[in-house]
Amino acid sequence: MTLFPDVVGDMLSESILGRGQERGFIRIECHQIRDFTANKQRQVDDYPYGGGRGCVMLAQPLYDCKKSICDEAGRDIYTIYMSPCGSVFKQSDARRLQKEHDRLIIVCGRYEGVDERFIEECVDEELSIGDFVLTGGEIPAMAVADAICRLVPGVLPDEECFTDESHWNGLLEYPQYTRPETWQNKKVPEVLLSGHHENISKWRMKQSLDRTKTRRPDMLEK
Ligand code: SAM
Repeated sequence: MTLFPDVVGDMLSESILGRGQERGFIRIECHQIRDFTANKQRQVDDYPYGGGRGCVMLAQPLYDCKKSICDEAGRDIYTIYMSPCGSVFKQSDARRLQKEHDRLIIVCGRYEGVDERFIEECVDEELSIGDFVLTGGEIPAMAVADAICRLVPGVLPDEECFTDESHWNGLLEYPQYTRPETWQNKKVPEVLLSGHHENISKWRMKQSLDRTKTRRPDMLEK
């Protein structure tokens, strides 16, 4: 649910997610909140009670937009509101949401955010993508949708595509190299050219651990 469905739709129809949609593994629909306004001006926001800067998104168009999606589906759909006040989204959340839900609604806020009563009435979970504030929820929603959709079986060629990556098993990924063997006088580590799978595996695990220890000691503690 967004005020910019074209931008979000275009972005999520590219590359891997685009192919995932073409092949029917996932479907991403972008709904224009403005289509559900009940006023002539198609206004979706108004001044905040209590004063202060900016505007707040009206509960009514958001409510009617969600209702229309759920009515079409014939059931309630787990709803996430992207918000800097939410808990910070992690790979484990992507796994949980992909496993537990076959459909999700993601609500993108704008302006100063949305009327709290919509959140109380319609939102199951608030998610943030980090401790900073963006102008809208579209980029956060695309990040969350991307992270979840790539875990849907069939979207990536096989499970290893994501189980081998950073954050899956609590570690950061090892460094990666491709051709040529030497570039700017820097050589690819010898072990990766050896063809010795066990040694490569050990080297990668050590690199993973060292990198996590240096860059993200908090992850190793966990
Ligand atoms: N007044 C709000 C506050 O201080 O918490 C910020 C509103 S922000 C300018 C507008 C919208 O962008 C929010 O409603 C939310 O949907 C989205 N947004 C901004 N930063 C975000 C973040 N870090 N994570 C998720 N969504 C975010």
